[in-house]
Amino acid sequence: MLTSIVGINWGDEGKGRMVDLLSEQQDIVVRYQGGNNAGHTVINERGKFILNLLPSGILRPEVVCVMGNGMAIDLAHLEKESAALVAAGVEISPRNLKISDRAILTLPYHVQLDCLEEERLAGEKYGSTRRGIAPVYGDKYMKKAIRAGDLLDLDYLAKRLKGVVAYKSLMIEGVYKAEPLCFDELFAWLKKYAEMYKDYIVDTGLYLTEAVKAGKRIMFEAQLGALRDIDFGIYPYTSSSSTIAAYAPIGSGIPGVKLDEVYGVMKAYSTCVGEGPFTCEWFGEEAEELRRAGGEYGAATGRPRRVGPFDVVASRYGCRVQGADYIALTKTDILSYMKKIPICVAYEVNGERVTEFPTGQALNIAKPIYEYVDGWNCDISGCRTIEDMPKELVSYVKRLEELVDCKIKYVSVGAEREAYVQMF
Ligand code: GDP
Repeated sequence: MLTSIVGINWGDEGKGRMVDLLSEQQDIVVRYQGGNNAGHTVINERGKFILNLLPSGILRPEVVCVMGNGMAIDLAHLEKESAALVAAGVEISPRNLKISDRAILTLPYHVQLDCLEEERLAGEKYGSTRRGIAPVYGDKYMKKAIRAGDLLDLDYLAKRLKGVVAYKSLMIEGVYKAEPLCFDELFAWLKKYAEMYKDYIVDTGLYLTEAVKAGKRIMFEAQLGALRDIDFGIYPYTSSSSTIAAYAPIGSGIPGVKLDEVYGVMKAYSTCVGEGPFTCEWFGEEAEELRRAGGEYGAATGRPRRVGPFDVVASRYGCRVQGADYIALTKTDILSYMKKIPICVAYEVNGERVTEFPTGQALNIAKPIYEYVDGWNCDISGCRTIEDMPKELVSYVKRLEELVDCKIKYVSVGAEREAYVQMF
């Protein structure tokens, strides 16, 4: 059984928590894209964990986790992230963590280049998390990236790194007038991590092919959401990788397999980190109230998130490009303080009503058109069955289901593992 869990919106939908819930039934959990530029927050009986690189399945001892070839991995970050988990008693060893030999490595100069470019862009910046992601994916397509498997042969690594250092120094010195790269320093950095991670680095495509043949239950965990996808998102304010479900088999190393089911995680209201068009954005006190209620501060960066009501136009598009079979609707409890709940059902662009998600300038100038539904205005965090749910909450869920044209299977009413209602 191959299950994919993806974000329907701009990221931070609560995917980590849904993966944590659904990973109970899995043998293997795979991350297949992105790097440490976003964070999943998982709360369970052992505590609160922020995962930037590791698949959320790492918190379950019986699950094997895979970091796929589609990822960009900063090993220094992985070292820190792992240390915090190990300190909390989580096992991280080559038994339960496998790193693809084809995954690209985010090196210190990628982080440096990310910062230099955002600073050069100044007022026009893309809102990068400055974790080196765009530069390392750029290098992947320029064929200048170092891959995890390169660490297994230090002579080969040295040869590759020489060429890469020469090329990147031209850019760093010539374009940004910064110091050229130091081969010895970088090689020492890589050698340290080669020693630390050599036993983790394998052909994960082969490992997963065998697992598929053996009928294992595999879950693919995405970072960010549909609207940050490099092809389908709000380009150029997107991430640099494919955040959609269809990329899961490719970014995991098993491009020939078909997914059995796709779960889209969709938030009961809208949030967005960083720059770019965000049609339903609220400002001032209204925004602050929602941000405070939802604790909307970035897991990876601590940045306050932009917030607003649920956006049907963006979310229906998100469901479509993700090919979602089912939806998990998260953070419904956050809306409990509202007497009337706004839902953005269409955009107005140049005086016209638009219901399909636009791109480019049309998206930049789109204005939200709202309908209002009754709020439940009571504590719903104890709801575990449909019968427990106030009728206004059931109506809100049914209305969203109809508007985005996808079945809502789970309704999450709190951050804890058991705080959800299964609708069917
Ligand atoms: P992700 O990257 O999609 O996993 O998103 P985040 O890490 O930003 O997760 C969203 C945050 O909301 C985390 O702190 C979760 O523990 C929390 N969360 C998830 N679902 C719910 C929910 O239904 N209600 C509440 N109150 N919090 C939730």
